[in-house]
Amino acid sequence: MDLKSGTPYWAIRNGLMHAFPPLRQDLRCEVAVIGGGISGALIADELAAHGIETALFEQRDIGWGSTAASTALLQYEIDTPLLELCRRYGQDAAVAAYRACADAIPALQSVAHGLRDVDFARCDSLYYASKPRHCNALRDEAALRLRHGLKLRWLDAGELAAGYGLRAPGAILSACAARVDPYRMTLRLLARLQRRGIAVHDRTRLELVRAGSRSVELRSQDGLRVRAGHAVIAAGYAGQHWIRQRLARNRSSYAFVTDPLDEAMLDGLRDTLVWETARPYLYLRSTGDGRLLVGGADDAVDRPARRDRRVPDKAKKLVEAVAHRFPRLALQPVFAWGGTFAETADGLPWFGAHPQHGPRVLFAMAYGGNGITYSMIGAGLLRAAIERRAHPLAQLFSFERSR
Ligand SMILES: Cc1cc2nc3c(=O)[nH]c(=O)nc-3n(C[C@H](O)[C@H](O)[C@H](O)COP(=O)(O)OP(=O)(O)OC[C@H]3O[C@@H](n4cnc5c(N)ncnc54)[C@H](O)[C@@H]3O)c2cc1C
Repeated sequence: MDLKSGTPYWAIRNGLMHAFPPLRQDLRCEVAVIGGGISGALIADELAAHGIETALFEQRDIGWGSTAASTALLQYEIDTPLLELCRRYGQDAAVAAYRACADAIPALQSVAHGLRDVDFARCDSLYYASKPRHCNALRDEAALRLRHGLKLRWLDAGELAAGYGLRAPGAILSACAARVDPYRMTLRLLARLQRRGIAVHDRTRLELVRAGSRSVELRSQDGLRVRAGHAVIAAGYAGQHWIRQRLARNRSSYAFVTDPLDEAMLDGLRDTLVWETARPYLYLRSTGDGRLLVGGADDAVDRPARRDRRVPDKAKKLVEAVAHRFPRLALQPVFAWGGTFAETADGLPWFGAHPQHGPRVLFAMAYGGNGITYSMIGAGLLRAAIERRAHPLAQLFSFERSR
């Protein structure tokens, strides 16, 4: 699956940071994690940190899937508003999902804290009403979140213009957000695991041969055998190929990055992620060296060649959209790219076992706009499943909700 087009910034900035050896002999472990993106890395880190003998396998280079294309806004806010989630799943489940996402931000911070130079920074998140007629629903959303202990402030049009140079009728400002270099974080996490004696193999594609009642058997493209107590399929959007049921829609999202900008030009955007109520939404954030990363203009394209061709036009559209909202920002893209992402009908991810493969094959499908936040939650959720413990989101994030 070709997951990205153009020149994703993280790949350019970091290059190939570290190579891991391919699998050269049969291997046994407690948990085999398939997929070396940010999800696989966070899951392997969580399992290894709790004494579970883990091995990770990546078919290409580590971090080179959608992780390298991600704009990595780390948010507690799910693409589906809390109001809408409450309507679908009831207040308790919906609030538990939002709270878990809020808890995942400091959890990601503490993972990043143990790593060198991954450009992690805490930020605010600004969620603006794209149109005056979106304001009432957004105010209701703010009131509901406040009632459930999620801290935020309402900003009116004057405050948005003064603080951010943003033309919008109103917005929710939350303090619970962050940004990171997701590619560097993945590489650093897995290199650290490797130094601690965990098997990390790239250029090793695994396929499922048999999922029995006591173990799982996998085979590499070279015919090597991996036997594990559990397999975790953290194969990103390619994870859908492992399950016959249709679980998500693949779409494409586009992004560009600027050269470093003047402090004065960035102003309130230095420490604030921005997104909006319109769908598809425009989103932006700064990087540690003062660039702006802008994304959006999502479409239903799922063919890499078509997505490749659209990158320059989409970058132009994103520049115009920013200029419309932030009249003082005349941005010049220096690198532009696009990437596949998968969207579920309710904006929630899938984590856990699927009836097609039984309880020893666990899926990590962190699908949705805040996929990295989901991956952090999923790491704890899957560890609980492997240790046969309950987890407050096991039900809501499970495949059972698809029935
Ligand atoms: C343009 C764009 C912008 C985004 N912006 C954000 C954002 O702002 N915030 C956010 O939270 N999320 C964002 N996302 C989503 C986020 O990037 C993803 O949720 C995240 O990168 C997924 O990581 P992953 O490890 O699950 O998948 P991937 O990074 O794709 O990793 C999966 C890996 O599995 C490997 N693999 C597949 N099959 C096999 C096999 N059989 N054997 C071995 N290896 C295999 C693949 O090669 C791949 O490297 C964005 C995504 C895109 C495309």
